[in-house]
Amino acid sequence: MGRVGHKRQHKNIRDLSRKYRTRKRTRDLDQIHEDLKPLASHKLLNQAVDPDLPGCGQHYCLECSRYFIDQKSLGDHLRSKQHRRRLKDLKDGPYTQKDAEIAAGLSTDNGQRSAAALERISKPEEVPADFKPQEPELIY
Ligand SMILES: [Zn+2]
Repeated sequence: MGRVGHKRQHKNIRDLSRKYRTRKRTRDLDQIHEDLKPLASHKLLNQAVDPDLPGCGQHYCLECSRYFIDQKSLGDHLRSKQHRRRLKDLKDGPYTQKDAEIAAGLSTDNGQRSAAALERISKPEEVPADFKPQEPELIY
């Protein structure tokens, strides 16, 4: 016998509604990728003292966009599973609209190339500093 209709609606479960609260929304992964760029990260890691933020905004985890009350809890966090999972998620580049279009087979090839693509083509391949071109040995 299958499940019969719900007798009660469990109106009092707060967790779901809490989970989806707008104010609980943190930064998305692509936003964090922006934060990780040197200029932005410097700004975030050297914030002015803000009494409204936990720990006055002095202990911030860039990858998780979270504030911690002191250096110890930040250190604990950096070793936590949450943080390591976030690092793993951040390893892939941000998911862009272009990725989505390529996945859907929407890539366009109409002969036009963006400036960046042209630059990439015209630039010669990077040669490592210690690379020496090998002279072809001539055998007579
Ligand atoms: Zn973190």
